[in-house]
Amino acid sequence: MIYIDEPIIQIIMWIFLDIDGVLVPEKKFDKPVPQEEYMKFDTYCLNEFENVLRSFEQAKVVISSSWREIFPFEVIPPLFSPDIRARIVGATPLLETKIIHNFQFLRHQEVMEYLRQNNQSEDSHWVAVDDIPEHYAPEAPVVATDPYIGFDQNSAKTLSQYLGSFR
Ligand SMILES: [Mg+2]
Repeated sequence: MIYIDEPIIQIIMWIFLDIDGVLVPEKKFDKPVPQEEYMKFDTYCLNEFENVLRSFEQAKVVISSSWREIFPFEVIPPLFSPDIRARIVGATPLLETKIIHNFQFLRHQEVMEYLRQNNQSEDSHWVAVDDIPEHYAPEAPVVATDPYIGFDQNSAKTLSQYLGSFR
């Protein structure tokens, strides 16, 4: 019998990740935050999010948060656990005013532009995680978090359901 190695087609699952209200819950600011804690993710939220990534090895993370306008991209992956960092692959582009059709669903437009720039089909498997789902069109795949609590067990469940449906 001859065994032929078939190429393994790995389907990429894209997660477009917001940070404030997701990995940095608003409750963090109920008490004074020392400056060195500013750029730290909430341990519980991060753990819930990273555990989903550990179950879905094909998932890659693209930062869609306004953090990408404030910090250079390189400072963001080190805020994740060592085994996850390589999965944080980029950030959505900032759209130039001339190509913004309208300011509605701006993050949704930025996601589509990211996929285009990375030669990915418009029907790529993607899901966004954001505390403001209104950044996306109503039918878009979005895991909406409660900004005060951030990414929790329920968010993890919903995100896993989306990713599971891509398999
Ligand atoms: Mg947010």
